[in-house]
Amino acid sequence: MPINIQPILSLMQSILQSLRQVNNLLPPSILPPSLLPPSFIAPPIAEGLLYTEMAIPVPQPPGVTGLPPNVYFDVSNLFTAAQKQRIRDSISGVLFNWTLHMSQKWNGGANNGLSQMAACSNTYSTKNLRPIWYQGVTITNGRKATEVAMDQFTQIIKDNGFRKSSRARIDWTYIPNAGSFIITTMRANTASTQTKVPVNVLINAYQLDQPSIGVGVLIGSMFHAWLHRAGFFDPKTTSYFISECPMCIMRGYGPKLPSMPDNLFYQFFD
Ligand SMILES: [Zn+2]
Repeated sequence: MPINIQPILSLMQSILQSLRQVNNLLPPSILPPSLLPPSFIAPPIAEGLLYTEMAIPVPQPPGVTGLPPNVYFDVSNLFTAAQKQRIRDSISGVLFNWTLHMSQKWNGGANNGLSQMAACSNTYSTKNLRPIWYQGVTITNGRKATEVAMDQFTQIIKDNGFRKSSRARIDWTYIPNAGSFIITTMRANTASTQTKVPVNVLINAYQLDQPSIGVGVLIGSMFHAWLHRAGFFDPKTTSYFISECPMCIMRGYGPKLPSMPDNLFYQFFD
């Protein structure tokens, strides 16, 4: 099945636009503790009225069978409609990068292709290559880590779309960024099991409102959160798979550039 290139080009264009926006940000200064962001603000609304289900279509890459038509998220009603659209775009972007990897790996049926995501991750990822639940042959490179991670995304998508995992929650918080590098954007806990893992993510609505944070950055942040749900660990720094793989996506799978240091990207990971 040929890959329709137009959505790929559109997404890459938006990623590049958002990268330019990030690159234009001045490095924030380190603030004294009194100016650091406050801790999470608890949602004030009673349980039961909090969430509205969001259905997002699952792209159908060749070679991957038994996929559901949609994935579903219970999204907090504290998010505005515009913020919910940003969340939808972020998850759709994760699914897009997953399906692009699966399509390129499928390689017309040989299932031996080196995807752009795997090639880029292989160049830069050397640490924490193994998900916590993994029992198979030792993972020694970023290519294999990417393939295991994307197969686990397939598992997560199937469990979600066929309602085998508990309902995935997108929870709300609001933490203004006072100019520090200590920012919450999208936070997820590392899952310890391989099946029936709900994609629960806590999202900072403040970050969604920033015009300087483009969709490419949000996709990278959401992708990092999904890697936690796929069983991968921080730290979110250079050389670690959970950081390098989403950074590859945020660079459109391109090489690192001296003008864009890694922390410009991973400040958006939690
Ligand atoms: Zn993290």
